[in-house]
Amino acid sequence: MKTDLDCLFCKIIAGTVPSDQVYSDDQVIVFKDINPKAPVHLLIVPRDHIISLNELENNHDKLIGHIMRLLPKLAKEQGLDNGFRTIINTGRGGGQIVFHLHIHLLGGKEHLGGF
Ligand code: AMP
Ligand code: ZN
Repeated sequence: MKTDLDCLFCKIIAGTVPSDQVYSDDQVIVFKDINPKAPVHLLIVPRDHIISLNELENNHDKLIGHIMRLLPKLAKEQGLDNGFRTIINTGRGGGQIVFHLHIHLLGGKEHLGGF
């Protein structure tokens, strides 16, 4: 599993930067976004330092499947019975600020609005 000592999310995974963690297992950690855009705003972060979707390889398929199946479980735990939104920003042009792959899970507003 890769780690980057200069990466904010690797530091959160290592515990050297604090976070409000809500879930953790051998593949991912999940913590609250520091600047929430909705009443519930979580970040699902692989423990492996993968920069973005652009860097995914065949050997990540199991991890990605795990994350996809985890999302509705986390949403349910957070009480998001009306639904939830997931966002993945990729590259600067996609609005990515932290270059360690993460999935945003948002919900809790009556309507988040569409694109
Ligand atoms: P992105 O634009 O997809 O790279 O989003 C990065 C997200 O990380 C933003 O929503 C930030 O609010 C969030 N963020 C930045 N620093 C922290 C931190 N220390 N703890 C929790 N979330 C953070
Ligand atoms: Zn990292």
